[in-house]
Formats: sequence, C-alpha cells, structure tokens
Amino acid sequence: MLNCKDITKKANGYLDKELPYFTRLQVKLHLLVCVHCQRYINQLRATIRALGKLKKDTSVSGQVIDDIVNTLKHARQNLDKPEK
Ligand SMILES: [Zn+2]
Repeated sequence: MLNCKDITKKANGYLDKELPYFTRLQVKLHLLVCVHCQRYINQLRATIRALGKLKKDTSVSGQVIDDIVNTLKHARQNLDKPEK
C-alpha cells in the first residue's frame, strides 16, 4: 500500500495518466481512504487547469507562466527531498 509521501511523488504522473496500470490502481486505492491526498490531488488538478487557462490568455506573457511553472516544479522537488 502506498503512503501519503508516495502519492505526492506520483501525483503528477497520476494526473498525466503516465503511471503503469498497477501503480495507478494503488494510487486510486489510497485516494479512496485518504482525504488529505484527495485534497492534494484536487488542488494540483485545479492548479494545472488554472495554468492551462492562463496559457490561453494572451494578456499574460509566456515568461510569467514559465516562472509559475518553474516555481511549482522547485516546490515539488523540495517535497521529494528526504526529510532530515
Ligand atoms: Zn494520503
């Protein structure tokens, strides 16, 4: 069974539908029983959706969107670092 930390690591792959079938099933099982990860996945999904809308908005420069994406990637990499 995956734990919450595993879910944060696999969240992007899950939302991008890039996980192998069995791993995807494990994530789904965890989401059935864990409200915290449900919230996390929903927030991530909302962020991806919002970024998609920003890309369509021509008044927002591509550089601003790239900065947001890089900030989120950096935050995610920090999540993946082992705890001290
Ligand atoms: Zn969880």
